[in-house]
Amino acid sequence: MEIPETIVCVDCGSAARRLTLPPEEGWEVGDFVAYRCTGCNDRWDLVVAEEDGPAAESPYAAEIRALFESRRDPALPPDQR
Ligand SMILES: [Zn+2]
Repeated sequence: MEIPETIVCVDCGSAARRLTLPPEEGWEVGDFVAYRCTGCNDRWDLVVAEEDGPAAESPYAAEIRALFESRRDPALPPDQR
């Protein structure tokens, strides 16, 4: 499972850097991943969600998936997404 080094902050559109180091065994569903936004300095605590599984119990699951999907075209600045 691929967890990005940076995500796009949903508040300000800046890059949020991952704080959490990858576990030796790799990421697993349910792992917590913390990000710190370089723009507004917000901390984002997200939970690794199944890529193709049914809706997870965590309210963050849909959010992190949306964040990852929003990175699919990183060439676009946030205000053009
Ligand atoms: Zn931000």
